[in-house]
Amino acid sequence: MPRLFVVSGPSGVGKSTILRKLVARVPGLAFAVSHTTRPQRAGERNGSDYHFVSEDRFQELIDEGAFVEWAVVHNHRYGTSREALRAGGEGDLLIEVDVQGADALRREIPEAVTVFIMPPAFADLEARLAGRGRESGPEVERRLRTARAEMPRATSYDHRITNDRVEDTVERLAALVKQVRG
Ligand code: 5GP
Repeated sequence: MPRLFVVSGPSGVGKSTILRKLVARVPGLAFAVSHTTRPQRAGERNGSDYHFVSEDRFQELIDEGAFVEWAVVHNHRYGTSREALRAGGEGDLLIEVDVQGADALRREIPEAVTVFIMPPAFADLEARLAGRGRESGPEVERRLRTARAEMPRATSYDHRITNDRVEDTVERLAALVKQVRG
């Protein structure tokens, strides 16, 4: 059976960069692509970062029972489809979800290995979110509020990794995958 690695972490912790590097580094590990109703950002690719869909299409997928889990995050809907969980074929899968998604996946797939990526300090999130200039001031504030609420949930994950340096974090995740594979 392919293994499922579920990764969460607050907005601004550097998850996307870390996970992209991890998938490139570890053979037999694929990224499960979620669906979302949030607008596509510059540089994102439909079908590889997310499946970007309309509210109507997302609702249709819910009604069809296409999702293993879905949640509202920062006013947009995000979901893991059953299809996405088959995408790895024989290989293992990596999926990025928020804390609600991780709760649901833990229930559905108890063997899933869960990892929470922590910032070295809360101030780092603030600096990163403000520094990347992608979100407006109020949006940065909202993401920081969500992060404050999410951080205490780190204790319900199997593993916690502090992202001091991206390369080290990728290395530690790769070592974890290796250890789980046995
Ligand atoms: P972003 O819009 O910055 O890419 O992601 C916002 C949040 O949505 C992140 O916390 C990310 O982990 C979460 N997310 C992404 N895909 C899914 C999903 O399929 N399900 C759930 N529950 N959360 C997701």
